[in-house]
Amino acid sequence: MSQVAVKNLYPLLINGEHCESSSGKTFPTYNPATGEEIAQIASASIEDVDRAVEAARAALKGKWGKYSGSRRAQILNKVAAIMRKRFDELVQLEILNSGKSLSAAQGQVGQAIEDFEFYAGATTTLGGDTIPVPNGFFNYTLKEPVGVCAQIIPWNYPLMMAAWKIAPALAAGNAVILKPASLTPITALVLGEICVEAGVPGGVVNVITGSGAVIGSYLAEHPGVDKVAFTGETTTGKDIMAKASDSLKRVTLELGGKSPNMVFEDADIEAAVDGSLFGIFYNTGQSCEARSRLFVHEKVYDEFVSRFVEKAEKLIVGDPFNKETHVGAIISEAQEKVIDDYVQIGLAEGGTLLFGGKRPEGEEFEKGNWYMPTIIGNITNDMRIAQEEIFGPVVVIIKFSDEKDLIQQANDSIYGLAAAIWTKDFGRAHRVAAAVEAGIVMINCPFSAFPGLPFGGYKQSGYGRELALETLNLYTETKSIISYIGQRPINPFGI
Ligand code: NAP
Ligand code: MG
Repeated sequence: MSQVAVKNLYPLLINGEHCESSSGKTFPTYNPATGEEIAQIASASIEDVDRAVEAARAALKGKWGKYSGSRRAQILNKVAAIMRKRFDELVQLEILNSGKSLSAAQGQVGQAIEDFEFYAGATTTLGGDTIPVPNGFFNYTLKEPVGVCAQIIPWNYPLMMAAWKIAPALAAGNAVILKPASLTPITALVLGEICVEAGVPGGVVNVITGSGAVIGSYLAEHPGVDKVAFTGETTTGKDIMAKASDSLKRVTLELGGKSPNMVFEDADIEAAVDGSLFGIFYNTGQSCEARSRLFVHEKVYDEFVSRFVEKAEKLIVGDPFNKETHVGAIISEAQEKVIDDYVQIGLAEGGTLLFGGKRPEGEEFEKGNWYMPTIIGNITNDMRIAQEEIFGPVVVIIKFSDEKDLIQQANDSIYGLAAAIWTKDFGRAHRVAAAVEAGIVMINCPFSAFPGLPFGGYKQSGYGRELALETLNLYTETKSIISYIGQRPINPFGI
């Protein structure tokens, strides 16, 4: 059980100060594992958004705009140091508000800290180029912050997504307005507080909570916002992009996925089973990069599937605070229903239920939102359950016989976020990695994200990359400066 102190009311963070909503409105947030209300959260009004945008614009013109890269690096390192000191508290708050397992929360809070450290290092390398130009001329480029960045994030990795957004934006000298998901606002608000404590000047990091349809939309349209960085559903991403187009904001999008996981006949079956289980059931399947389409070669299909189901039976579902737990709670009642509806759709389409397909049974599951790890076989890639993102612990298995045909099926998706390949054949591994339409490819490996590696998708999984050095390009404008350094004055018209 959690020992952490939770406030009754979490206020907004605007201009470096905590404040209530100008409307006085609040909304409740819950523990998904018990359904209990854990706190009230300030519900920002449109006026609060305007104030946050104004504070961010002013902050860019203030001392923040004059800080050197090394000063920003010191601050980012300080953020990381305070997060390390408050590690257990952040982990507990994350579990309490998201229902994820202790081990998942520890890994994600750890990575959030490393993201700040990575971008602290990157800050001091952020510079332009000198570019060879004709004799008598001299050219160089400057990297300047884009300006005010609205950052809108989902509920599945509440703190880590906040870190993926805030750290590169600050590294590049921007000011941000972070809008966490309404289901999981707490750790993002605490991170905002930590930024202020670490010396981020007031107005540089603002955290506002409230309805995405109201304040998220408003931020996407706001003329005072220069960039929107969004992570969430593909449909929301399209809406944001349309709204941002009026003022031609810079837009980066990290969206949904239906990532293929491909097990070849020569794979190390045990490693493939373990990696595939993690690939789908980590974070209770609520991951954008979840490997939810499992393709297995016909020659090893029976062996693989029986081992896969056997090991799924060993997964411990339950109290997220228990260190033995593999699979925690589902984020909300609505999401639990979405998951179950998809399972019924898959079965109606002709799928065979191999494991799960329902809420787990027992006293501890009487309250809260739960779904068993679920495996459905006998699926073809054209079925809805193989095409649509479920965002829960459900994997569908598709049999294949031929590499070329497999690649075609793997790419037959509107999404292109991640892909995994299990084979001992070096040539095949890299051939398939090159052919698959995905931003991240894992070979004999279950992990998709380390600080420094570009993370993002092809096709309708979004565009732009996070977590990497190249992310800084998406938080900067490039200014090209050309000068004449020759001795004779130039008279281009010759008059
Ligand atoms: P979502 O419903 O799209 O919401 C994401 C964020 O957008 C929330 O803060 C939400 O606020 C806000 N929002 C909702 N409607 C909006 C609108 N019309 N305009 C502006 N903002 C709006 O996504 P989710 O259900 O939280 O998260 C699940 C999705 O995230 C999945 O599709 C998953 O694949 C994707 N995801 C992608 C990545 C990646 O890196 N590619 C990583 C994680 C998750 P409210 O909470 O107030 O509604
Ligand atoms: Mg949603």
